Amino acid sequence: MTQAQNHSQVPVDAAVLARKAADSVAVMREAVQKYAKVVYASSLGAEAIVLTDLIWTQVPGIDIVTIDTGRLPEETLQLLERLERRYGKRIRVYYPDAQAIQQYVNENGINGFYNSLALRQGCCAIRKVEPFNRAVAGYAAWVTGVRREQSAARASGAPIELDPRNGLAKISPLLEWTEDEVWAYIRGHKLPYNPLHDRGYPSIGCAPCSRAIEPGQDHRAGRWWWENPESRECGLQPRQRPAAGG
Ligand code: SF4
Repeated sequence: MTQAQNHSQVPVDAAVLARKAADSVAVMREAVQKYAKVVYASSLGAEAIVLTDLIWTQVPGIDIVTIDTGRLPEETLQLLERLERRYGKRIRVYYPDAQAIQQYVNENGINGFYNSLALRQGCCAIRKVEPFNRAVAGYAAWVTGVRREQSAARASGAPIELDPRNGLAKISPLLEWTEDEVWAYIRGHKLPYNPLHDRGYPSIGCAPCSRAIEPGQDHRAGRWWWENPESRECGLQPRQRPAAGG
């Protein structure tokens, strides 16, 4: 491999991993029992691969959706197809409103999001937040790939809690997983994943807003790197990383 590989290759205890997977399935089954209408908005990132496998093999009551922002890397769309082919199931894809994009591009240019924080957030609002809200409308609970170790803001969360921003119950089955465990699960089950992770991308969203980083560099340097660190949010999960469409 000629380029930086930023994802973990660390082996983990197989028994621990199996127990965590079983716990995650139990959390999701409890959510289905409790809320009936449960949706998972997949980012198609590493955590999403684990959750998709657990849901499609063990928790069939959860619908999986994703947002195609119109600016995703081709590798992400190919991954979507590989997942569907592997499991013989369909991820429901939501798209931004065409007229809203038309107006944004007319006014700000095709890459207007580089020009100011407001324009970047406006683009994310049109391409991600609005379709996300449409995708989860009518559901009582949504699943996230949040892990406790990702930030202080996530450290105190519970696997099932109410999300005050959208009134949905928020289900976080991977809360106790480490990054090493996520990758060990992907490797152990030979699951497809985005090849951009092998090219140094820690987090993959829209192509113009994601980039490779050097090993050891802060993961946030891979997204919206031209902005101040405090403003690098997409609107789907305040103070957290993107949940869908990145
Ligand atoms: S990540 Fe970039 S291209 Fe994607 S919606 Fe946000 S600003 Fe637009």
